[in-house]
Amino acid sequence: MNLLIIRLIIFAVLFWAGLKLYRMYREWKLEHGADQPRHLDDARMVRCSQCRVHLPEDEALRQGDRWFCSHEHRDKFLEQQRPPED
Ligand SMILES: [Zn+2]
Repeated sequence: MNLLIIRLIIFAVLFWAGLKLYRMYREWKLEHGADQPRHLDDARMVRCSQCRVHLPEDEALRQGDRWFCSHEHRDKFLEQQRPPED
């Protein structure tokens, strides 16, 4: 019975230590990882369907599965796609 209690205590201490280490690691990572320029790595380039210029995805406008550099080009492209009325 004593052995079981000792095992439980050891397990609890190990668990607590692991949790504390994990939290310390997370804090360290937040402090040291936050100011790195992740933006450039993450930015995916897309192409405007109208003028074929390349731009980062977060600056582009999405319409269905197409991308556009501006509202003007999106509207222009959609106008061209539309079947002519008479
Ligand atoms: Zn464009």
